[in-house]
Amino acid sequence: EAKAAGRDRVHLFSPGLRDAARWRMDVATRLRDGALDQFVVHYQPVVRLDTGEVEGVEALLRWQHPERGLLAPDAFLSVAEETGHLIPITRWLLHETTRQAAEWAQQGLSLRMAVNISARHFSAETLVRDVRTALRESGLAPEQLMLELTETTVAEDPTRAEDQLAILRGFGVRVAIDDFGTGWSSLAQLMALPIGTLKIDRSLISAAERLAAGGTGAVLGAIVGLAHSLGIRSVAEGVETAEHLRMVREAGCDLAQGYLLARPMASGEVTRWADRVRAGG
Ligand code: C2E
Ligand code: CA
Ligand code: CA
Ligand code: CA
Repeated sequence: EAKAAGRDRVHLFSPGLRDAARWRMDVATRLRDGALDQFVVHYQPVVRLDTGEVEGVEALLRWQHPERGLLAPDAFLSVAEETGHLIPITRWLLHETTRQAAEWAQQGLSLRMAVNISARHFSAETLVRDVRTALRESGLAPEQLMLELTETTVAEDPTRAEDQLAILRGFGVRVAIDDFGTGWSSLAQLMALPIGTLKIDRSLISAAERLAAGGTGAVLGAIVGLAHSLGIRSVAEGVETAEHLRMVREAGCDLAQGYLLARPMASGEVTRWADRVRAGG
C-alpha cells in the first residue's frame, strides 16, 4: 500500500500493485452496490500566461471511500470505465460542475469548467443528451463548458469523432484534446477536428526540460506554433517548477496548469484562491 501524499491538499490513497486484483474486485462490488453519492469533485485552476489571470478550472474526480479515505482516479477509474459505471458517474459530475460554475458566475467569478470525458462515454449515444441536460438544468452558458477528450479517444474512430464533435460544437460547447503527446496521433490528424484547445501532456513538459537543458524546448515550441497557425490555443500541463514555467512561456503556450500555480482543491477553496490571486498575492 502506498499513499500518494501531498498530491492534492489532501491525502489520496492508491492501492499497491500487490493487491491490485482484490482491489479491483472490491471497487467493482462497491460501484455495483451504488457508491455514486460518495464521489466528490476537486478543481484545479488553469492560468493565462500573459496576464496571470485564472481562465477556468479542470474538474477532477475523487472518491470518498468509506474505509480508504479520499481516492485518486487511478485507484478506480479503469474499473469504473470497464464496468460501465463511469457514464452515470460522469452524468452526475456534469450536473454538479455546471451547477457549480453557474453559481460561481452569479458570484462574479467567471470560470470555464473543463470536464474529462471517457472514450466509452464519447462513443455513447447518451453523451450529447447528458451535456444538454446539464446545461439546461444549470443555466450555464455553453461556452463556459469545455469537454476534454484524449487524443486516443478521438483517434479511435475519427469519422465518428468528427460527427460527435460537430454536434457538440453546434450548441457552443468547447472541446480540448487532452494528454497530447502520449499517443501517436499527429497535429495534422487532429486539425481536421473542430477543437479549440490542445492540452500538452506533462511528460512532454518534463522531456523538453531534459532535452533543452536550460534553453527553449524546440519540440514544445514547434507544437505550440503549429497549433497557433491552426487557431488552436495550448495549455501546458504539469507545470511544477519555475523552470517549467519559464520554458512553456518561451515556447508560446497560452495557458498553464500545474502544482506550481495551484493544486486541485475543493470547491470552497476555489473562491478563496481566486480572491487571493485577484488581490495579487
Ligand atoms: P488529466 O486529465 O491529465 O488531469 C491532470 C492530472 O494531473 C490530475 O491528476 C492532476 O491532479 C495532476 N496534476 C496537476 N498538476 C500537476 C503537476 O504539476 N504535476 C503532476 N505530477 N501532476 C499534476 P488526477 O486528479 O489524479 O487525475 C488523473 C487522471 O484521471 C486525469 O488526468 C484524467 O485522465 C483522469 N480523470 C480525472 N477525473 C476524471 C473524470 O471525471 N472523468 C474521466 N474520464 N477521467 C478523469
Ligand atoms: Ca484532463
Ligand atoms: Ca491531461
Ligand atoms: Ca495526464
